[in-house]
Amino acid sequence: MVIPAGGALGLYISIPFCRSKCTYCNFASGVYPASEHARYVDSVIEDLAAAPAWAARMGVQLPRRVDTVYLGGGTPSLLAAELLARLFAAVRGEFDLEPDAEITVECAPGQLADQTLEALVATGVNRVSLGVQSFVDREAAATGRLHNRAVVLADVMRLRAARICNLNVDLIAGLPGQTFASWQESLKMMEGLADAGIPHASVYMLEVDQDSRLGREVMAHGARYHADLVPSDDDLAQMYTQAIERLDKAGLEQYEISNFCRTGKESRHNLRYWQRRPYLGLGLDASSMLAADEDHRVLRSTTTDDLKAYLESSEPVETTWLTRAQQHEEAWFLGLRLNVGVEVAAVQREFGEAMVAPALQAVARLAENGLLSSDGKTVRLTAQGRLLSNDVFQEFLELEAPATPLRSPLAR
Ligand code: SF4
Repeated sequence: MVIPAGGALGLYISIPFCRSKCTYCNFASGVYPASEHARYVDSVIEDLAAAPAWAARMGVQLPRRVDTVYLGGGTPSLLAAELLARLFAAVRGEFDLEPDAEITVECAPGQLADQTLEALVATGVNRVSLGVQSFVDREAAATGRLHNRAVVLADVMRLRAARICNLNVDLIAGLPGQTFASWQESLKMMEGLADAGIPHASVYMLEVDQDSRLGREVMAHGARYHADLVPSDDDLAQMYTQAIERLDKAGLEQYEISNFCRTGKESRHNLRYWQRRPYLGLGLDASSMLAADEDHRVLRSTTTDDLKAYLESSEPVETTWLTRAQQHEEAWFLGLRLNVGVEVAAVQREFGEAMVAPALQAVARLAENGLLSSDGKTVRLTAQGRLLSNDVFQEFLELEAPATPLRSPLAR
């Protein structure tokens, strides 16, 4: 069962506004006038109020207790203090926010006004994720980031002075012009911040796809956006491995493919994605996962990634009921993302030995190839498996045929 009895909900709220568009960005975000911010927040607040009725019509459980909230983007720190206050008042009005809830807001360095910081503190935000990407100023500038190293360090000090100490720093390996020497420089800065008490870091590998300007240029073998200076896949793999080693020595242990922390400082919100616990996503391009009231079915839904369309109707554009077989596949490929791995007995208890048997055959094959390790009780990715994780996950996606996505028949 995905949702333990009495389990609490996680809320994800997408804020898709940015001051400028980074060249590598493949998110549904953009630069919009401030007048759109208020309209958008109004729409999210309407969705918050409508969520229980929507869930009831879909026949899914919507726990009232919320223990994690995550404002992602985009750049949520661009919202005016008054809009943040309204948004959090609506969250508290519609749901029972637990006293020790983890409340995270993503911030771009240099884009956190004093009044906004005050509003974050006043609304109970207790975790901030800073999109640093590189501590090397020329690398940050080359991708359109608007901050430099000094600005990042100043924001870290401001946040800590405001008693928001549970901080995450995002880094990207594979930025244009990045070299082993410059990557070491970013890692050294991250080590210094870890020494100073920053408890969490995320390291992502540059994604090259059609959804970003840089990705398209790399795929076309062009040179715009410095696409010709993107490190090779082999160099990228080495940079990632170096990050794992150096962050570990700095006390930030890897707990997920891209995430590192001090003991007990995992992102509670992100853990729920990999542990298949329920979440409600609101706003542009937001996903939800909720369990059905009666049987073992699980609903996944996604909202549109088009702002104009969202402002006209925020009804999910795709709604998929996951079969048991699909839930089983997810238990493997989401669980394997975590360094603790997948406990075989737990999966067998949840899905039955017959359903799990083909997965164990896949485990044996992948272990033979050095991509998984298994002691018979727990299955984990190896270091090589982490580098080739998409290939590993593919093996678990092919255990059963995919379900047919259904158009949602319900308006909010
Ligand atoms: S700040 Fe983040 S969301 Fe906005 S354009 Fe840059 S990477 Fe994308």
